[in-house]
Amino acid sequence: MQHPAKLKPIVTALLLSATLMAGAAHAQLAPSPSATAPAGTTTEARKANIVIIGTGGTIAGAGASATNTAAYQSAVVPVDKIIASVPEISKVANVKGEQIFQIGSESFNNERLLKLGKRVSELLKQPDVDGVVITHGTDTIEETAYFLNLTLKSDKPVVVVGSMRPGTALGADGALNLYDAVLVASSPASKGKGTLAVLNDEIHTGRDVTKTNTFKTETFRSPFGPLGYVVEGRTLYYRTLARPHTTQTEFDIDKIDKLPEVAVVYAYGNVNPASVDAAVKSGAKAIVYAATGNGSVGDYMVESLKAAQAKGVQVVRASRTGSGIVVRNAEQPDDKYNWIVTDDQLPQKARILMALALTKTNDPKALQQIFWKY
Ligand code: ASP
Repeated sequence: MQHPAKLKPIVTALLLSATLMAGAAHAQLAPSPSATAPAGTTTEARKANIVIIGTGGTIAGAGASATNTAAYQSAVVPVDKIIASVPEISKVANVKGEQIFQIGSESFNNERLLKLGKRVSELLKQPDVDGVVITHGTDTIEETAYFLNLTLKSDKPVVVVGSMRPGTALGADGALNLYDAVLVASSPASKGKGTLAVLNDEIHTGRDVTKTNTFKTETFRSPFGPLGYVVEGRTLYYRTLARPHTTQTEFDIDKIDKLPEVAVVYAYGNVNPASVDAAVKSGAKAIVYAATGNGSVGDYMVESLKAAQAKGVQVVRASRTGSGIVVRNAEQPDDKYNWIVTDDQLPQKARILMALALTKTNDPKALQQIFWKY
């Protein structure tokens, strides 16, 4: 027989593990619609059918060693291989991979954006497709997400996802991000919420999300916060959208075959007016001027922007500060000049909206209304 003093640590350890197990069994979250079943049905009814479109980026990247978290080659792993590396996905949805590009997202241009948008639109029309996930580089994920958010004509969920570290790295974030993206795309609660971006346990609207840090996994932010979280396999929403998107907009991806050129010109002390002239010469139909502060424009730059406008180029005042609203007729007399302000749109987002708006009108007043609407 063991001495009672020797038994004590064993009993304590047993009690501790029993407590931990009981704790795990009781982990609970607020009820939300089943992650996989359509509204009104049970989880067992059927799994959602999700197409995962691969475009490249770090989520398709590989490094020379596990410690290469920021130096690696992006866009090398095929989408089917990425999907196969996360077997947990098959438990929550029927997924099919489709490789449309294998590029870093910095190489997205209007043609590629249109090609991607048209393919997503085609897929969403298929009755056997419940949602689409797009694996994408993080550098311009916010532009693609915003573009799709404004142009797709479907209530079905579309989720863009990326990662900050390649799959080969210690602490790689792509596998969980992809799993979460499929969960969100499969959730009935995601219907009618426009294009979403899912990274780092958060669900963001394509309208607002932006990359704010060059290397950290916690880089995606929305000025008004994320729409929700993904945790323990659950899609949890806490906010609704205030601005029109997808089915509520006048922009239809199926009807757009070309986007007008819109240039972004960045302001700084001693900014050279030649950058405005170059944009005009290159055929830009509008210049988004990423101005200082609340859209302030240096005296000599006013002249060059007015000269551009005289040649038929629209002028849009944005801010390089990264957040806030550019107030009309405050730093510049926009009514007098017939210029446009971006509302709260970041310059790179304003570029997308302006390109779409120019497919509808060339009237500065109507263009201004579009910025205030979306
Ligand atoms: N340069 C990469 C890209 O945007 C970075 C990333 O995916 O995080 O494709």
